Amino acid sequence: MNGAVSEVVSDSVPDCLVCGGCCAWSETWPVLMGARDGEGIPDELIDFDNQRMQSWGHRCAALEGVLGCKVGCSVYANRPLVCREFQAGSADCLMVRRKLGFEA
Ligand code: SF4
Ligand code: SF4
Repeated sequence: MNGAVSEVVSDSVPDCLVCGGCCAWSETWPVLMGARDGEGIPDELIDFDNQRMQSWGHRCAALEGVLGCKVGCSVYANRPLVCREFQAGSADCLMVRRKLGFEA
């Protein structure tokens, strides 16, 4: 959620606090990039064997609320690097939103 792997391509940037799509996209994401990534996140929210966030199905265990309605990240201040870098309005963001039916 909210972070900048790819450039912003959309004129109107979607609201992450309504969406949450990239936080419920894959059970293999977000991964942790190195030993200090994810510092401060409670152990039960981390899949240490696979070095990524714990997930319930495709939904990150730290995601709170209702997808596409009102969401939040319970570890926002300590969220993984990939979450910080994923940018709202980027091509990847819009791809996720389209797949989830949030974008035409
Ligand atoms: S898919 Fe885009 S709009 Fe939705 S939470 Fe992720 S970055 Fe924000
Ligand atoms: S750690 Fe937070 S920002 Fe990252 S995928 Fe999970 S809920 Fe989303």
